[in-house]
Amino acid sequence: MRTPVLVVSGFLGSGKTTLVRSILKQSQRDGIRTAVISNEFGALGIDEALLTAGMPGPDAIVELAGGCVCCQLSDALVDTLVMLHERVNPDRIVIETSGVALPFETQLHLYRPAVRDWIGDEACVVVVDATGSAVASFSDPNGATANETFDQQVQCADLLILSKVDLVDPSPMQARVQALAPETPVMNAVFGDLPVDVLFPRAPGDQPRAPRKRPITPHAHTHEEFVSTEIVVPPGLSPDEVEARLLGLDALRVKGFVLTSAGPRVVQGVGRRIELVEPGDLVIRPGLVGRVVAIRRTGGTHRH
Ligand SMILES: [Zn+2]
Repeated sequence: MRTPVLVVSGFLGSGKTTLVRSILKQSQRDGIRTAVISNEFGALGIDEALLTAGMPGPDAIVELAGGCVCCQLSDALVDTLVMLHERVNPDRIVIETSGVALPFETQLHLYRPAVRDWIGDEACVVVVDATGSAVASFSDPNGATANETFDQQVQCADLLILSKVDLVDPSPMQARVQALAPETPVMNAVFGDLPVDVLFPRAPGDQPRAPRKRPITPHAHTHEEFVSTEIVVPPGLSPDEVEARLLGLDALRVKGFVLTSAGPRVVQGVGRRIELVEPGDLVIRPGLVGRVVAIRRTGGTHRH
């Protein structure tokens, strides 16, 4: 199977490091080998405990310093992805960009010839500090204003995550980002505690996750509830009809396999971006065709 890649972007101090740490902890719990390429390593502060059981080892946490992965260091980013694939072959890869990076530019490098054949679905989440203090403290060496960079990051996100929603009323920042990106789902997070399935959804037929053994963080708080359901898509619809049907689910993520009037397609969707990709050399097991997993909000919150 191909390796899914998640780009985590947002200003320095927005809470993206906390999110990456939460992804690593959940991966460790689930026995999933997750590699991280960090463009802001100093802030990440990975502790040794995360590099032991269930983790692919220190080689799989790579720092790229001295520039930005979306531009100056884009060749280094691709070289690092190739190195990880050849030496570590992780189950998943997280790219934490610098605060000034444009996530869409970063995503484009995932389609370069050296990596496009083994990278699976890719998605970009942008973490936004609900308190606004990360925006206020922003400085870009290239002279862009904080608001320009903020707007661009928000507008190219597949999913937006509002962090620190326990510290302030998040509704002003929520209104600001929804005005910039009306179609993009906005999720609330406290301490990066978002179910990892929303960020790395499983496809039909994938092994279910190991049961959760302990809480991810000791903090008592609420977060949104999500539900994962499997949808049956009948064969023979046109790719456009399938896309319209999946958009109608209003899901955060969709992932699966369908047989369209144009042939078999791998479905991968994040927010309003739904892609139907020809399977290429991927062999789809017959029992999986027509099955799509959708992750949606329940509308409720969950307290723990
Ligand atoms: Zn850049």
